[in-house]
Amino acid sequence: LNRHLAALPTTIFTVMSELARKHGAINLGQGFPDTEGPHDMVQAAADALLDNRNQYAPLTGLPALRQAVARSNARFQGLAINPDSEVIVTSGATEALAASLMALIEPGDEVVLIEPLYDTYLPMVRQLGGVPRMVRLEHPGWTLPRQALAEAFSDRTKAILLNTPMNPTGKVFSQDELDFIASLVKQHDVYAVCDEVYEHLTFNTPHVSLMALPDMRDRCVRIGSAGKSFSLTGWKVGYITAPTPLAEVIAKAHQNLVFATAPNLQRAVAYGLDKDESYFADLAADMARKRDILSDGLRSVGLDVLPCHGSYFVMADITPLANGLDDMAFARLLTEKAGVTTIPASAFYEASNGTPPTHLLRFAFCKQESVLRDAVGRIAAWR
Ligand code: PMP
Ligand code: GLN
Repeated sequence: LNRHLAALPTTIFTVMSELARKHGAINLGQGFPDTEGPHDMVQAAADALLDNRNQYAPLTGLPALRQAVARSNARFQGLAINPDSEVIVTSGATEALAASLMALIEPGDEVVLIEPLYDTYLPMVRQLGGVPRMVRLEHPGWTLPRQALAEAFSDRTKAILLNTPMNPTGKVFSQDELDFIASLVKQHDVYAVCDEVYEHLTFNTPHVSLMALPDMRDRCVRIGSAGKSFSLTGWKVGYITAPTPLAEVIAKAHQNLVFATAPNLQRAVAYGLDKDESYFADLAADMARKRDILSDGLRSVGLDVLPCHGSYFVMADITPLANGLDDMAFARLLTEKAGVTTIPASAFYEASNGTPPTHLLRFAFCKQESVLRDAVGRIAAWR
């Protein structure tokens, strides 16, 4: 057996979603919207199914979707991308991450990772024999410790993995921070894997891709997800933008992982990516409203809410209510007694990199407003 996989616990998202189901709790743990994505996209997928689009798609994706990804790069990031050689359609951002890391990492290569981090990053890097170099953001402000970041780079560094807007913190890296990261990437002549699945979910702050910064175009792999941009998480359609020499190698990884992604879904996502400005503005405005409802509600029940400028998630400090319980114990109690499920934030930390904080919970606000209010009401009634 592969010792990394054998030792890996089941993802915290599945653990907490099962606990939520068992106790009939409102699930603010796993990040998925509780409403459907745009009906016209669902219709486009259904039309494509009935139009006999049911055999393998091309390895790197339908031309229509690759062209739409290239147009989206131009429209939102000012990037001129060749749809034939610089775009790869994947089965979700998860596969995009796996294929990108496979294309870059050889055993012993170091990868700079920023904590707290999405739960697939570390296992993926380790399975490839990569060596994680962790840098921990400082809360409550989620400040990037620049000196520690600079020191994490070495002559063995192959890449940095940057997630902005960031899961689980809701941090959006500032222009100044991105400039600093870009300078390190250039100085050490390494790559950046940019997980930008929440690119269209920033609140009153623009999303800037590291790839759009000067001289960064040929050093970045930029990853998007239709799941997040169109509230269609179950579709598992993702897309990679990368310079041709890198994209060619990523395509080799992709061909052995899944080879191709469902063609009807690809056709619908191609249609969706061309939606006008108002669709993307409304998506972000709606999510910002939800963030506010949940954040205000959590404050009203006595929790300290940390800053959040993007993504589906906000973190809260449970110290005022937890009576000394750690995040895992408190998250269980909150599910069982209050009927509200969250994710204990220690799950996003690596214990070997120092004791993780145990006083934070991650709340997903990508839910209907009535559900968010109901969840707050349940906590208020229980506490
Ligand atoms: N990266 C981040 C930061 C995520 O939050 C998620 C899922 N929510 C993914 C990648 C995976 O996206 P997908 O569902 O498209 O595989
Ligand atoms: N990305 C989602 C989250 O952070 C979960 C995705 C999954 O369950 N694999 O909640």
